[in-house]
Amino acid sequence: MGLGEFFSGVDLVEVDGLLTEDERMVRDTVREFVTAEVLPIIEHHFREGTFPTQLIPKAAELGLLGASLHGYECAGLGAVANGLIMQELERGDSGLRSFVSVQGSLCMWPIHAYGTEAQKQTWLPPMARGEKIGCFGLTEPDYGSDPGAMITRAVKKGDRWILNGAKAWITNGSVADVAVVWAQTADGIRGFLVEKDTPGYTTRDHTGKFSLRASVTSELILQDVEVGADALLPGATGLKGPLACLTQARYGIAWGGIGMAMAVFDEARRYQLERKAFGKPLASFQLQQRKLAWMAAEITKGQLLNLQVGRLKEKDRATFVHVSMAKRNGCHVARESCRLAREMLGANGIADEYQTGRHFCNIEAVYTYEGTDDIHTLILGQHVTGIAAFE
Ligand SMILES: Cc1cc2nc3c(=O)[nH]c(=O)nc-3n(C[C@H](O)[C@H](O)[C@H](O)COP(=O)(O)OP(=O)(O)OC[C@H]3O[C@@H](n4cnc5c(N)ncnc54)[C@H](O)[C@@H]3O)c2cc1C
Repeated sequence: MGLGEFFSGVDLVEVDGLLTEDERMVRDTVREFVTAEVLPIIEHHFREGTFPTQLIPKAAELGLLGASLHGYECAGLGAVANGLIMQELERGDSGLRSFVSVQGSLCMWPIHAYGTEAQKQTWLPPMARGEKIGCFGLTEPDYGSDPGAMITRAVKKGDRWILNGAKAWITNGSVADVAVVWAQTADGIRGFLVEKDTPGYTTRDHTGKFSLRASVTSELILQDVEVGADALLPGATGLKGPLACLTQARYGIAWGGIGMAMAVFDEARRYQLERKAFGKPLASFQLQQRKLAWMAAEITKGQLLNLQVGRLKEKDRATFVHVSMAKRNGCHVARESCRLAREMLGANGIADEYQTGRHFCNIEAVYTYEGTDDIHTLILGQHVTGIAAFE
């Protein structure tokens, strides 16, 4: 577990004081869960390339699955509390945070926002209990940043739908009981709930990943998959349906990125205080202090940005641009912090005995998915200039 067991937070400007007592309690509970139950096992799972499924019941018991949703056995927490959950989970591992994000923001959220009452009753309580797992199929082998060009089609046949196509890089894909599959229809892009055992629906895991190894990532293959009218999510038409789900998940990643940065900053700082070179602690050299100072300042700015976007979200005033800015920032700060922390650990920075190397690998996936850094830059660029530069 490296030096993660000693983690006690990173708070340079009393951000804690801006949180409510309940928010701090949620944060501390997840922090303890990560230290006690995630860090001791995560290195093994990362090595083996397996997701630690044994953590699902505890995550459910703590109310982490669909935590911001109301009703249907969900915790109904505010946006800041939910963000703090993601921050702390990613302090443990991006694979675990991804699992929780996909389950809550990309599968439960669209069912909650766009589904029928029957769909909500069927799926949300067992998903909140961790008894059913979900995934979100938007990306295709040929279309990632440009999901509007997707090839997957759903054609209406009487009162049933026939789906054909393929999805790629889908978190939780092969372990999911239900997939939210986005497909072109005569009325534009629509979302469908496809159950695991539906004939014609198969999955195949992406292997050989060097990033997010403690997470399942799969292809979804749909060959003449026939589903009833009750599989359609009635409340979403067009690309804005999946994009709104992504706004929910990206918000969590913004916090997660800062959580990852906090983990590697803390490990690098402890390491540098303990290890000596040229007769004194590494931390006493100016070059090393500069790196730690950069991380500390960027983490602090990231915490404040996330908090403000969270408070806006609680008032229903957070826009997708706010969320893009925070996702982009959280991932940038995490990526640079991982790079600096890795070098500050010397050779140990590439050993999985320490957490930094694992985060260093994980950030590459997190920086890429849910909108790459480039895409979020273009979203922000469009906002500040009024000119879209996507094509
Ligand atoms: C581990 C992992 C898990 C994932 N989980 C899911 C999931 O659960 N569900 C899901 O649907 N997807 C998932 N994804 C897919 C992810 O969202 C996509 O990989 C991502 O959106 C980027 O798409 P792409 O890989 O096709 O890259 P591309 O779109 O091919 O982009 C390649 C490069 O070109 C750049 N680029 C693209 N367009 C532009 C432009 N207009 N201007 C400038 N630069 C541009 C990109 O920034 C990138 O650097 C996952 C990916 C990974 C790695």
